[in-house]
Amino acid sequence: MEILDGKHIAQTIRQELHEQVESLIRRGMRVPSLAIVQVGNNPASTTYVTNKLKACREVGFNARLVSLPADISQQQLLAKINELNSDNSIDGFIVQLPLPSHINETTVTCAINYHKDVDGLHPHNVGLTALGLPGIVSATPRGIRELLMRYGITTEGKHVVVIGRSNIVGKPMAMLLMQKPYLSLPKMSAASLGDATVTLCHSKTRNLKQICLTADIIIVAVGQPNLLTADMVSEGTVVVDVGINRIDDPSSEKGYRLVGDVDFQHVAPKCSFITPVPGGVGPMTIVSLLQNTMQVYMDSITV
Ligand code: NAD
Repeated sequence: MEILDGKHIAQTIRQELHEQVESLIRRGMRVPSLAIVQVGNNPASTTYVTNKLKACREVGFNARLVSLPADISQQQLLAKINELNSDNSIDGFIVQLPLPSHINETTVTCAINYHKDVDGLHPHNVGLTALGLPGIVSATPRGIRELLMRYGITTEGKHVVVIGRSNIVGKPMAMLLMQKPYLSLPKMSAASLGDATVTLCHSKTRNLKQICLTADIIIVAVGQPNLLTADMVSEGTVVVDVGINRIDDPSSEKGYRLVGDVDFQHVAPKCSFITPVPGGVGPMTIVSLLQNTMQVYMDSITV
């Protein structure tokens, strides 16, 4: 069994991006710039936003936090988004989710200029992913694809089971995996994955265990600790755990620890490769956001 070390791969990619930024500076060019909009101060969101800004600054991007009060009206938020849409000093921006319940997330996502949508969640970019055309790929699926590629794991002809049908992970992941690789190739990638036979499972799926037992690769994005247990996994399977769950742990300083959706202790010995939580998909999601920002920047200077 080999660990798919997302922390290490993300560090390598950050180094590559840093070198690209240094080269831009040497040539007297401006550096890529990302803004993050945070509404309210949900502690989990604050942690994610802080980590994203830190990663941005580490590679030499300009990073800007746009912090807005939790009681901001939807109209005021949309006005802020319009401002960022037309701000030429920003290559890309994201609105950190979830948003307060009085704001419609779909309306907000659709209001972002899709050229600047570095989370890859705007219907235009989702549509390009579905068609296998170059566009901005949703950060987590892009990160998983990169992680598999860098470990030399191919998907051609393989049975990949994706558990979870969210718009940010499950659906775009399934779309990327089933594409003909040359069609799904984004401009920034040296290689791609695809040509898999994909089964997308969700809360209403029957016989999840039987389906998983026929998988070469299982990607779990549900948000339920121990959803994937050892009896659901065949010997040699590749397992990618997207889940992030807080469970009580009085022995830890914070009183909780993070676990994924996989019963790691019992599943790992059966796998050929497996991602840990933390240190697997999470760091790859953050670095994908940086890669998407660099992609948008490169497109803007080559137009
Ligand atoms: P979500 O929370 O929107 O939806 C969960 C999905 O799980 C649904 O599609 C549902 O049909 C499915 N599901 C629920 N119970 C199921 C069951 N018993 N069997 C099969 N499927 C079931 O999904 P999300 O936003 O993709 O988040 C999923 C998890 O991934 C969460 O823990 C989230 O925090 C985590 N996440 C991690 C990253 C990362 O970077 N590591 C990024 C995004 C999401």
